[in-house]
This record gives sequence, C-alpha cells and structure tokens, in this order.
Amino acid sequence: MPHLTGFPRAELAEIFSELGEPPYRADQLFRGLHGRRQQSFDEITDLPKALREHLSEMATASVLKVESKYVSRDGTRRFLMKTHDGFPVETVYIPTENRDTICFSSQSGCPLKCDFCLTAKLGLLRNLTIGEIVEQIIIVLNDVYGVGGETPHGTNLVAMGAGEPFLNFENLIRAIEMISHKDGLFIVYSRITVSTAGIVPKIYEFAKLERRPNLAISLSAPTDEMRNILMPINKRWKIDDLMQAAKAFEKTLKRGERFTFEYVLLGGVNDGVEQARALARLLAKYDLGRVKINLIPHNPAEQLDYHPPTPEQVAAFKNELESLGVSAYVRTPRGRDIYAACGQLAAKAGTH
Ligand code: SF4
Repeated sequence: MPHLTGFPRAELAEIFSELGEPPYRADQLFRGLHGRRQQSFDEITDLPKALREHLSEMATASVLKVESKYVSRDGTRRFLMKTHDGFPVETVYIPTENRDTICFSSQSGCPLKCDFCLTAKLGLLRNLTIGEIVEQIIIVLNDVYGVGGETPHGTNLVAMGAGEPFLNFENLIRAIEMISHKDGLFIVYSRITVSTAGIVPKIYEFAKLERRPNLAISLSAPTDEMRNILMPINKRWKIDDLMQAAKAFEKTLKRGERFTFEYVLLGGVNDGVEQARALARLLAKYDLGRVKINLIPHNPAEQLDYHPPTPEQVAAFKNELESLGVSAYVRTPRGRDIYAACGQLAAKAGTH
C-alpha cells in the first residue's frame, strides 16, 4: 500500500487528480499528515468522510509501529520501531536546556563496519523509505509534544542514528526537503545535520545541492593505518580522498551553514596527544583548520572491545587541539543507560 506520508505534494496532487478531486486536497492532506502530524486519514477531518474512507482503503498514513520506548535518567528517550515488514528502526530524542534534538536513522542496520559501533553488528537490513524517515520524526514529536502540539523553535535533527545516510542519499534528501516544508514539520535546513562516515562521491554530490542541511564528517582517526581498522570504509576512500572532498565542500559553504568533523575518542586507542597533534596537522595540510571538531567519548557496549577515554584524556586531547588553533567541543554522552548513545543503537532492549 502506498505510504502517503512519503509523497511530496505534487505527487499527492496527481493522486487526487486521478480520483477526480481538486488539487487543494493535496494541501489539506499534506497539512494533516505533516503540519498536524496525524497518522490516520480518519483524523484529517477537513477531507470529506467518503474521501477519507477511500484513502484508507487504497493507501496508508503510517507504516511504523513503536515496539518499545526507553526513557533515560537524563530524559533521553529511545524509540525502537518496526517497519511493516519487520525491520528495526531506532530514533532518539535528546532534551537539553536550550533545545531538543532528534537523532534519526536513514537505514535499518548499517553496511559499514565501524569497529566501535554496535549498529555495525547488524549489517545492512535495508534502506528506509522517504516516508519511514519522516514518520520516525513525527512519532517522536507526537510522543514528546502531543499529536499536532507545537514543535519548539530550535528543535534540531541529526541523521546520526543507524545507517550511513549517504548510502540512502536520494531518500534522505527528499525526506529532508519534506521535513523542512513550512506547511509540514517545518524544521528548517539550518537545524538539520547529516553525518557521513565518508562516502566520498556523495560528498561531492552534496556539495552541489542548492539547498542542503549541515554536514558532519566522521573522521575518528588521523592516519590511514588507524582509520582502516576503526572505519574500514577508509580502505575504499583513503583519508586523502576524504579530505580533498571535505575541502571541496568547505569551499561551497554558504552563510549560516555548518560543517564539522566528528572524532569518536576510544580509550587508549586514538585519544593520545600525539593523535591530537596528527589530527591538527591533517586539518592544516588541507587548509581545514577552521572546521570545528566534535569529540565524542566512546559509549561502552558489552560486544565491543573498546572502552571510554578518561575525562583527563579527553581534556588533554581537546587542549592539545586548541593549543594548535583547532576548535574542539566535547559531546556529553546522553542516554547511555538505555543504549541510546552514539554507537549503541542495535535494536537492543534497555532499562525502561
Ligand atoms: S558508526 Fe554509523 S556508519 Fe559506522 S557502522 Fe555505525 S551506524 Fe554505520
């Protein structure tokens, strides 16, 4: 059954035209599904009853089912959802004092084999559809603010859940276009960040987009030798390829767009001051010294051989970078107790 939440307005208008309905029905439906976040045609009462019934027979407004919800001591909520064909989709809501962030998935599982990530153990199950990407966010917003409740200005979205977003490029970009629409969820491009592990050709393609979200590139190692082990995608595209693409992208940055590197700190592995120095040298070599670095202390998981860095090591790494002129921010781990933190998503049960 077609999932109309994933259809842009132009395509909805075509469907209504085939049904002999006027084009404004597409606007009504779009506003109901996205603007008011209604997940059943029956709730969209500005459409005539007979039409709602007809739509319910031929299509659906919801394909995801929430299987479990875990709430952390720190307020983070992790949603484990299932697609209609039984694949897991994980989405995390992270409240902070100033703004809320929703971390969404672009794939069920992930084909990349980052050594420090639990999702990698699942392998790729499948790409998510446009509608599934959008509906995750609808479900979380409804859970937090109530169906149709206003989304606070400043809510951020990050494509940093399960999956490599650039391996589901087309669906991701079309979903973001829909999410940012003023009659829809209206979470604008500047509030959305996509994080890639380094799918180099897609970075060039992304750089050409007229409208685009912010970009983060997950680096996590300053040398090929180390990155080949931690992020084996590096064997396909070496650090040199990646940094050249990063530089090409940086040159296209427009006012208000943000570009960052992410670096997962693994205790005793890549968190030494010598790696901090190598990282600063690498950025300088490609003239990327102004790009900020997000440092993400590793989040522990039984099945992974890594452990988090000590707070002293994190501070020393950050100080070393800053002394070399690179701005670095430490991302506080959130929702570790419910397996909601970075690298921990693997359709695993947590403590409620
Ligand atoms: S860190 Fe991201 S890209 Fe790497 S395996 Fe995990 S989900 Fe995939």
